Amino acid sequence: MVDSVPLVDLKAQFATIRGEVEAQIAEVLGSQQFVLGPKVKEFEEKAAAAFEVKHAIGVASGSDALLLSLMALGVGPGTSVITTSYSFFASCSCVARLGATPIFCDIEPDTYNLDPKLVAGILEKDCERTASGIRHRPTDTVVRAIVPVHLYGQCADMTAFLELAKRYHLAIVEDAAQAIGARHRGRLAGAMGSLGCFSFFPSKNLGAYGDGGMVTAQDDGLAERVRVLREHGSPRRYVHEFIGINSRLDSLQAGVLLAKLPHLAEWNAGRRQRAERYAQAFAGLPQVKTPVTRPENECIFHQYVIRAEDRDRVAEHLRERKVGYAIYYPAPLHTQQCFAYLGYKRGDCPVAEQASRETLALPIYPELTQEQQDYVVASVRECYLASVR
Ligand SMILES: *Cc1c(COP(=O)(O)O)cnc(C)c1O
Repeated sequence: MVDSVPLVDLKAQFATIRGEVEAQIAEVLGSQQFVLGPKVKEFEEKAAAAFEVKHAIGVASGSDALLLSLMALGVGPGTSVITTSYSFFASCSCVARLGATPIFCDIEPDTYNLDPKLVAGILEKDCERTASGIRHRPTDTVVRAIVPVHLYGQCADMTAFLELAKRYHLAIVEDAAQAIGARHRGRLAGAMGSLGCFSFFPSKNLGAYGDGGMVTAQDDGLAERVRVLREHGSPRRYVHEFIGINSRLDSLQAGVLLAKLPHLAEWNAGRRQRAERYAQAFAGLPQVKTPVTRPENECIFHQYVIRAEDRDRVAEHLRERKVGYAIYYPAPLHTQQCFAYLGYKRGDCPVAEQASRETLALPIYPELTQEQQDYVVASVRECYLASVR
């Protein structure tokens, strides 16, 4: 009898791959090479092939992948980056950490992804072409890049963003931390923009057993710059071309990722299948809006996020029924205290603000059983049937 369902269940996955992971770890221990080294190189080669990119560069985290990508593009003081207000903090903290200015933009109500029409509006109405590039008048900065985040496992409208990038000579840095293996018009997340950023945080679809990340690139020069920047900007020992950082993937994590990589496609398919089951189960419940996948996208359902009437009451009921849930994200980034200096106010990104009040993530992972899923569905349904409370 199911009487609780966790939001994520890494133990269930580990049970299915234990032997493969332990063999990889034993190999790394035998080699006593822990930072970069042959294991990381092997992972980078296999990842580049699997994710259909020319270069894959292992780094210390998804947050660092974003930071290094922007560093490689020359983002810094006097420049700005257009990004979404509705994402994990790292999608925009990287901009501010480099001394550049984040320009927050609202999202599409159905996919929760950065809205290309609003980005086009910023570029048309708030910017002008100058000799040094596209100047954002209100902040007096040169716009360098757009960072679309492929939220919850579905690609942002890359067709539109690539067109804007071409028209305005901007770089696109894809935040693909939640979208490893997702596709847009057949193309893989992280393989469409100038650079792609991935996270191997343990709960991501491809998770390491600690922190880890990856930058992908098609351009040799950009890839080389990221490679050098992750090792103190040093192409050779004691020669420093740039002021880089220390952000390398550990060999042990590369070993874990090598054990898991062959399973990713099957795991992603398992999530998709569970998403379909949820969609069918909630079809007759008007109070619940299930996720919309655009026909041109193949979603990998890193999260299964519903829009629920009376969201906070649903959350409370799920807590009582011991169903794991999460709210991604309770406060849009433009309302965070640390960005108060940028001068945004409530109402500036109304679609993101509404999503933060109405949405809720339910358990989704390939090991989620039918019984567990039925329990989640029943728990959500009960909220509305018992609405006399
Ligand atoms: C997880 C995540 C990151 C950061 O990755 P870390 O590996 O935790 O640093 C960045 N962006 C998004 C959208 C994420 O979900």
